[in-house]
Amino acid sequence: MTEYPTFVSHLECSYTGKTYPADQLYGLSEAGKPLLVRYDLEALAKGVSKDNLVSRPAEFWRYREFLPVRRSENVVRLGELMTPILPANKLEKELGSGSILIKDEGRLPSGSFKARGLALAVAMAKELGVKSMAIPTNGNAGAALAAYCNRAGIKTYVFCPEDTPKVNIEEIAFQGAKTFLVNGYINDCGKIVGEGREAMGWFDTSTLKEPYRIEGKKTMGLELAEQLGWTVPDVILYPTGGGTGLIGMWKAFHELEAIGWIGSKRPRMIAVQAQGCAPIVKAYEEGERHATPWPNASTIAAGIRVPAAVGDFLILDAIRESNGFATAVSDAAINAAHEECAKKEGILLCPEGAATLAALKQELITGRIKSDEQVMLFNCATGLKYPMRSEHQIVDLNKPIDYELIKNT
Ligand SMILES: *Cc1c(COP(=O)(O)O)cnc(C)c1O
Repeated sequence: MTEYPTFVSHLECSYTGKTYPADQLYGLSEAGKPLLVRYDLEALAKGVSKDNLVSRPAEFWRYREFLPVRRSENVVRLGELMTPILPANKLEKELGSGSILIKDEGRLPSGSFKARGLALAVAMAKELGVKSMAIPTNGNAGAALAAYCNRAGIKTYVFCPEDTPKVNIEEIAFQGAKTFLVNGYINDCGKIVGEGREAMGWFDTSTLKEPYRIEGKKTMGLELAEQLGWTVPDVILYPTGGGTGLIGMWKAFHELEAIGWIGSKRPRMIAVQAQGCAPIVKAYEEGERHATPWPNASTIAAGIRVPAAVGDFLILDAIRESNGFATAVSDAAINAAHEECAKKEGILLCPEGAATLAALKQELITGRIKSDEQVMLFNCATGLKYPMRSEHQIVDLNKPIDYELIKNT
C-alpha cells in the first residue's frame, strides 16, 4: 500500500469560510454551499518541484500533491492523459485575433472532461467507503461516473433529462449504470438524487454538491499552466454549466501562485452560455452575486443547459475578480462555429466547445476581447458524441461511375 504525499489540511465552506476536518464524507456545507478542499501550501511547495513533475507520466495524476487522494490503491485509472493544446492558426488569421489555443479535452476517458472530476470523486468515494453513487446529468458526467464506478466496484444510479443526447444515454446504460430518463431538467434530476439519499443510501455526486469533482477539474488549470511553461493565457473562454471547471481552474491558479510557480497574472475568465439558458450571464449583467433559475432552458449544447448552478457566486466572483465577463451565444452561432472549426482546422468540437469559438467571434466584434489577447478555448468533449450535419452523394454500383458528378461535388 503506497501512501500518496497529500497536503490536505481541511475543507472550507466557500460561502462562510467555516472549516471542516478532512477525511470525512461530505456533501454541501451546513450553509448549503460548496465545500472546497484546502491544502497546506507551504508543505506542498516543499513536497514537489517543477522538475519532479517532468519525470512523471503525462497524465493528470502527475499533480497528485495538489489532489486529496491519500492512498494510491484508491486511484481509479482509465488513462487520464494530459490533453493537447492545439493552435488554431487559420481561424486566428481570419478573425484577426491574437493567438487562439484550443484545449482539447475530448481525448479523456469517456470522451469528455467530466472524467477529470469524476475520477477524483470516485477515488475519494472509494477512499471513504462509499458503496453507491447517484448523479443528475446532461450526459457526460453520467457516462464518466458509470465508467469510473465500474472500475472501482461502486454501484451507479444516473438520472438524465429525457432529451439528453442519445449517445450519452446509451453509453451510460451500456456500462450498466441504473439509468433513468426524467421528463424535466438537470435540476429536477438533482432533486431526485438529493431527496433519495436517505431511502437509497447513495452518495449524491451532483456538481459541486460534493467537494472533490472540483479538485479533478482543477487539474485543467495546473496542466495548462505547465503546458504554457508556467504561464497563463490572457483570456480563457469556458462553456459554463455548473461551472466546476471555471471555479476549479481559478482555484488552481491561486494555489500555483501561492507556491510561487506562476506570477500574479490571471487569465480573464469568460463564462460562455447559450442564449436559451444564460442564468450566469443575466446575473453578471445585473450585478448580482447569485443567479435566478432560468425558465424553459433550451439549447443544442446540452452540457451547458443548467438552469441553476449551486456554485453561481463562485463563477461570478471569479469572472469579476479576473476582469472577465459572461456572455451568451445563439444556437445558430454555435452550429456555424462547430462547422467552421471542423472544416478549417480539422478539429471536431463538441457543441459546447463550439460555443466558446462563437463567443470569441462575437466578442472580438464588441471589443470585449482585444485582437492582441491570447485566448484559450475549451473543447470539453469529443465531437463524435454529437449529431453532425452531413452532405454526401450516393454512388450506385449498378450504374457507370459518374466522375463528372464526383468532380462537381
Ligand atoms: C459538463 C459539460 C460542460 C460544462 O462544464 P461545467 O464545468 O459543469 O460548467 C460543458 N461542456 C460539456 C461537453 C460538458 O459535458
